[in-house]
Amino acid sequence: MKVLILYGGRSGEHEVSCLSAASVLRHLNPRRYTPLLCGITREGHWFLQEDSRVQAVLQGADLQVHPGAEVSIVPAKGFQAGGALLDLDMVFPVLHGTFGEDGTVQGLFEMTGVPYVGSGVLGSSLGMDKEKAKQVWQYEGIPVVPFRSFVPEDHQEARGDIPGKTLRRLWQEWTAALQVPLFVKPARAGSSVGITKVHSFQELAPAMKTALSFDSKVLIEKAVTAKEIECSVVGNLAPRAFIPGEVEPHHEFYDYEAKYIDPDGAALIIPARIPEKDQHRIMELAVRAYRACEARGLARVDFFFHEDRGELYLNEINTMPGFTHISMFSKMCEAGGLEYSAVLDELIALGLQEFTRRN
Ligand code: ADP
Ligand code: MG
Ligand code: MG
Repeated sequence: MKVLILYGGRSGEHEVSCLSAASVLRHLNPRRYTPLLCGITREGHWFLQEDSRVQAVLQGADLQVHPGAEVSIVPAKGFQAGGALLDLDMVFPVLHGTFGEDGTVQGLFEMTGVPYVGSGVLGSSLGMDKEKAKQVWQYEGIPVVPFRSFVPEDHQEARGDIPGKTLRRLWQEWTAALQVPLFVKPARAGSSVGITKVHSFQELAPAMKTALSFDSKVLIEKAVTAKEIECSVVGNLAPRAFIPGEVEPHHEFYDYEAKYIDPDGAALIIPARIPEKDQHRIMELAVRAYRACEARGLARVDFFFHEDRGELYLNEINTMPGFTHISMFSKMCEAGGLEYSAVLDELIALGLQEFTRRN
């Protein structure tokens, strides 16, 4: 099978995607798949990478986006590069965040008629929008972290210049409902970019400004003090969950540095150190959350759990979670007996299955 791996992208998570995609490339079974690489620049240009680049990455070189033949979409036909249609069986978007995990690129794939790995338009965009996902889960009776949302009303507010009077009113409203501290985050982002923990009114204005620099909608949440539990889910209409793991951040929260920069930023513990019955409750909720969003292929569903208080909240779903062989998603699958290359085989098979079901 010829598989086109898309990576990089116009997203705050460009670098993370390059790491994930290099891992995918190196673990695709060469007897089954012929990989092609399409790098997307930070500006959003799509370039087919020369085969020598593919070989270099297979030998251990870092994956970056180099200029090459421009790749474009041909509706109802597929993808073309340098004027010629690419011969492809499957697209594997190893893209995180905006324009990759949010349904936009999935819409393009639908137009081409080429099968692809992972969630479709709805699953991706719901998974990306932390507010809409929570509303769907609330409707399903799944417990979510209490939240409010903020959408700027004019250009000035959109730039993050919210009038003092408005901010004062919002602070009162939000802290009355959610207490202090608050988490302020872009509604549609990932890798913790743009997230601030707000301990006082003075910290609210800069936090809003930061969140608004990443998205035109902001989510405000109650700060939960609990274990962070993550759960891998794989499948289409009848997905299965793996035994959850636990993330123990060594920073004030699991921020970008703790995730990717500080080698001692967090401990990943599999299985999570919680009672078995709670592990199973979380796996059940993860599957329900996944199905409620109509996710496909894979996702990592993240929770907060406080054993003594008996508190369990669903935090978010990631439809293209960090996907290197040492990422939490892959390690939880592996702990459940599905090693990394087998995950890739299964995801490609699921992409084909979903394509056949819908066409
Ligand atoms: P992302 O999609 O960027 O990972 P998250 O909502 O998962 O966004 O937030 C990133 C991290 O910030 C979490 O893993 C957690 O450490 C912290 N965090 C986010 N929201 C809350 C909250 N309501 N209470 C406590 N910690 C939070
Ligand atoms: Mg996320
Ligand atoms: Mg997260």
